[in-house]
Amino acid sequence: MPGILDSDIKFLSGVGPRRAALLEKELNIKSFGDMLLFFPFRYIDRSRIYTISEVEPSMSYIQVRGKITRINLAGEKGPARRLIATLSDPTGSIDLVFFQGIKWTKERLRLNQEYIVFGKPTVFNQSLNIVHPEIDSVTEENPIYVGNMIGVYSSTEKLRGGGISNKVIARLQSALIKQCGEGIRETLPEWLISEKRLMPLKEAIQNIHFPSDLKQLASAQFRFKFEELFYLQLSLLRQKSVRERNSKGLYMPRVGDLFNQCYSVMPFELTNAQKRVIREIRDDFKSGRQMNRLLQGDVGSGKTMVAILCSLLAADNGYQSCIMAPTEVLANQHYNGSLKLLNGTGVKIALLTGSTKAKERREISEGISNGLIHILFGTHALIEDSVQFQNLGFAVIDEQHRFGVEQRSKLWSKSTETLPHVLVMTATPIPRTLAMTLYGDLDVSVIDELPPGRKSIKTMHTTESHRKKIYDFMKEKIAKGRQIFIVYPLINESETLDYKNLQDGYENIIREFPAPQYVTAVVHGKQKNEDKAYDMELFASGKANILVSTSVIEVGVDVPNASVMMIESAERFGLSQLHQLRGRVGRGAENSYCILMTGHKLTKESKQRIDLMCSTQDGFELAEADMRMRGPGDIEGTQQSGLPIELRLSDLAKDSQILEEARKTAKSLLERDPFIEHPLNHTLKDQLNKMRGAKEDFSRIS
Ligand code: ADP
Ligand code: MG
Repeated sequence: MPGILDSDIKFLSGVGPRRAALLEKELNIKSFGDMLLFFPFRYIDRSRIYTISEVEPSMSYIQVRGKITRINLAGEKGPARRLIATLSDPTGSIDLVFFQGIKWTKERLRLNQEYIVFGKPTVFNQSLNIVHPEIDSVTEENPIYVGNMIGVYSSTEKLRGGGISNKVIARLQSALIKQCGEGIRETLPEWLISEKRLMPLKEAIQNIHFPSDLKQLASAQFRFKFEELFYLQLSLLRQKSVRERNSKGLYMPRVGDLFNQCYSVMPFELTNAQKRVIREIRDDFKSGRQMNRLLQGDVGSGKTMVAILCSLLAADNGYQSCIMAPTEVLANQHYNGSLKLLNGTGVKIALLTGSTKAKERREISEGISNGLIHILFGTHALIEDSVQFQNLGFAVIDEQHRFGVEQRSKLWSKSTETLPHVLVMTATPIPRTLAMTLYGDLDVSVIDELPPGRKSIKTMHTTESHRKKIYDFMKEKIAKGRQIFIVYPLINESETLDYKNLQDGYENIIREFPAPQYVTAVVHGKQKNEDKAYDMELFASGKANILVSTSVIEVGVDVPNASVMMIESAERFGLSQLHQLRGRVGRGAENSYCILMTGHKLTKESKQRIDLMCSTQDGFELAEADMRMRGPGDIEGTQQSGLPIELRLSDLAKDSQILEEARKTAKSLLERDPFIEHPLNHTLKDQLNKMRGAKEDFSRIS
């Protein structure tokens, strides 16, 4: 039943069709309800009126009160043309300057009339002034300014040009709140409001727009944050439970020869964490439900082995698997590693990438469609339309954040009837709150243990003036048979420059480490695939002492004999990227080193990042810190995930407690009322249905 909140915004007095179009285009506001939910993004304390003598240019927005004592036009015609009105109080005077709306302002301002003026003071020509202040005559009765806190709404040039200033929005909100009155119906059930002591909706709307004080504002914000996080969690958890109830999964209960054989020839014992994860996946395989699992494990924790062993389980049950990697280098490595491991077991594997030749590609396609090939390794080439599995039972996506949602969803269509079990692996630890939001409907496994014998990686920060010393250190390591990574940043904006840096660096290294005594390989994105593979192999096989590269090697590459990682211009990398890079060393039994080379001058934030890297090796700790510093939107895994986490007010870095609380509440609610059908919960049902209508299905990541 449509209520007043569904009314078209153009019908609000003071809006009309022209402004309505603008509001929709700029702010996506279409209805009364949309408008009420358009919140200020910050607040200004307007409880205080300064005397003009107190005003200083360093102040942010302030209020002064006085009479207009002079009105002047100044400057030539054109952009310098301006209206200057002088405002005076008993302590002094200040100029109010208008470059736009000169005529209108001039007609409106009255000499000797008293005004309240609001704006940011600046200095121009050594005198204090305020450019384009907000002005109210003191006699004017304006209910909006009764409160102490004034909301500031985000705005655009077009909005302001169309006459929709901050003040106009505030006035519209105030009118709306009055007009809607009882039409603002509570969107949370009563029991929840009282249990969590939340501010009721009407009161919260009033206070988020026009807070009477800080405390009321905080209560209003808490209510809205809790509400949005609660509904998000409720919908994720409900989707999860619906899927668990309905989805049919391939039944793969057997543990057979292929798995057992491989298990016995493995060159090492699995870690307890690896065993636990394999058990979790096995349980899913025989549950009759389709698995949707995220596997998080720090670099080097041995995720690949888990994927391969589980592929063998699938093969033991007569199903095919595919393992998709984000780069050819990685796909090659997965494939070659598996070849060695599976040699003589009768397991047929194949590799399909962009550089697979047409003839071979045809053979592989055939082997896939007639079921001869058990495990297909590859890049996204393996989700091309020409590849049709006979019976895909298990799909692994490595380093998932590198793939777009679309590519992932293509995998679904690879199987005919029942969806395959899906395992998504990532070495980018995702902060808990983010995982709960992005992947709240998935099962999550964590490998929280590194294979034994790994030495910790000593991380040090150094600058240009110590370069010589660093090279000597490297020579020492090379003399002992160790290998070295040197990585250059690659940041799209100035690609040419980045490659030049890499090229210069490479030439520098060759001079410093001359052939034939030393062999240096180089790998970057502009190379031909053959060259890249050749140089990569040179390093992987131990023939090259040094690998100079861009961050291509960031994902996955495994060379246990490499024990030094030098990162050039380390200040240009994000924390999680640095952590990924560092994870390339420390895989052998030797002591390993990560050298962060930076310029002399660092911003405070870069310094913080570098210091953190030097002080901890815990990927989760770094991810949390990264999210605090940069906000959740910039965390790797968020942007590329393609998933909408549009949160109106909440900040996943700061509001983790509210999130935990909201998730707990949603969980226990679903335990009591799994179908959300209890009469006391009808509000919840309505809201969830509305959300579902408004958003695309949120639940699938693959
Ligand atoms: P990641 O989780 O980063 O993908 P990998 O799967 O590449 O890690 O494994 C890193 C290295 O550790 C590989 O050389 C792999 O063979 C080795 N490895 C994996 N599991 C174990 C284990 N249980 N014991 C010893 N080495 C292992
Ligand atoms: Mg890996």
